[in-house]
Amino acid sequence: MQYELRAEYAEGIPPGSADARVALWHMTEAGATVSLCGRQLDPAAWTQPSTAWGTDASDPFCPECGVKYLRMNSG
Ligand SMILES: [Zn+2]
Repeated sequence: MQYELRAEYAEGIPPGSADARVALWHMTEAGATVSLCGRQLDPAAWTQPSTAWGTDASDPFCPECGVKYLRMNSG
């Protein structure tokens, strides 16, 4: 299973707007728009490869997605 990071934006600011900034990074299955924590994310939202998880590039990261992702990877 491949995963990727998908951005959730600050409320009221559409992705693509000059003011858009990432409120929280979530983990999704690659190509999916529903995060591991069950949130529906914008299909146009920025994504990053799962290798960015744990780096400054994925800060701030959703704690619920972090826990679920860790569990899946520890079997
Ligand atoms: Zn999440």
